[in-house]
Amino acid sequence: MKILVINCGSSSLKYQLIDMENESVLAKGLCERIGINGSMLTHKAPGKDNYVVEKDMPTHKEAIELVMAALTDAKYGVIKSTDEITAVGHRVLHGGNTYTESIVVNPDVKKVIRECFDLGPLHNPANLMGIEACEAAMPGKPNVAVFDTSFGMGMEEKAYLYAIPYEYYEKYKVRRYGFHGTSHMFVSREAIKFGNLKKDAKVIVCHLGNGASVSASIGGKCVDTSMGLAPLEGIIMGTRSGDVDPTILQFICNHEKIDVNQMLNILNKKSGILGMSGVSSDFRDVGKAAAEGNKRAQVGLDAYDYRIAKYIGAYTAAMNGVDAICFTAGVGENDKDCRKRICAYLGYLGVKIDDERNNIRGEERVISTDDSKVKVMLIPTNEELAIARETLALTTK
Ligand code: AMP
Repeated sequence: MKILVINCGSSSLKYQLIDMENESVLAKGLCERIGINGSMLTHKAPGKDNYVVEKDMPTHKEAIELVMAALTDAKYGVIKSTDEITAVGHRVLHGGNTYTESIVVNPDVKKVIRECFDLGPLHNPANLMGIEACEAAMPGKPNVAVFDTSFGMGMEEKAYLYAIPYEYYEKYKVRRYGFHGTSHMFVSREAIKFGNLKKDAKVIVCHLGNGASVSASIGGKCVDTSMGLAPLEGIIMGTRSGDVDPTILQFICNHEKIDVNQMLNILNKKSGILGMSGVSSDFRDVGKAAAEGNKRAQVGLDAYDYRIAKYIGAYTAAMNGVDAICFTAGVGENDKDCRKRICAYLGYLGVKIDDERNNIRGEERVISTDDSKVKVMLIPTNEELAIARETLALTTK
């Protein structure tokens, strides 16, 4: 059985065709600059030459049509016809307060995705366009929505409610939703399997990419997670500030004579490690600058580690213990020094890192010593595979 996984951004579309017999990637690719001049599709299939198509893609509909043509192309394709595709799984950013799990798309599901446009203004409209483009290109084929917010729906009220007037939760569903949910779900479950942990293990996952978040879960069910109503809250990210005192917004708006939308743009796009260091949003550049003596880069990295260590401490308290701490995503999978620096804060938990085991990138491995009281693991995330598994489970019952 073959599952097509689609991840639509406002001007991009990423895809993977996965053979679920052995969970291997048959082909993957990217459509860029959808709706902009110079649209381009890059298609890759193992053992074949890369296939690049430069053709106008005014909307996601034309992009999906090109993806179908690439997948079935006589030379570069991997299937004879789209009949070979069992179902399509879509990453959808926000499912609001409605969906606690992935779901087969029907008109009600599309209505909810639309109702959540204001909660995910950049992603939800694109996600819906991707679904509708697949419906048009492959009539009758099941589409599954896998929400980034589903994992966070496992939280109890005490974790997801903000201490603001309750009416805003009732009227507008203002609450903590959490994001990177598919990654946190995949990594926390994989950690239990790979780390030979008990079924109800207490796991903290540090998803450290350009966007970044930390989650706490027991037996794969979310207890708490650092992102909130939107993906801005929590730890320091590439360009996002993470937690700030809301008074800062008013204070800077008044001094700089800007409005709250401009301020939020600054918190989303010009803050984080970029804003602190003044160097870059890429942690490799910031690490290099710090090593060359750039003080702002160094303090940015120090603050980054410190904030993550604080979250790990808080989540350990929330769960009354922790069995495993996992690192994943761009920084978490590739930066051994960052993993080591964060774990250096955790001596009080009996965490001990084995430098030799930690000297890896992008590979599933226990990186703590055998006598460490908490297992520390590197678990590469695989959101596409998680989406494909959810899609298969819902469409072949
Ligand atoms: P992601 O969003 O998961 O794709 O992660 C992207 C981020 O990972 C980039 O912004 C880089 O800062 C970071 N990254 C990738 N490789 C490394 C590395 N070797 N060392 C430090 N950071 C890295």
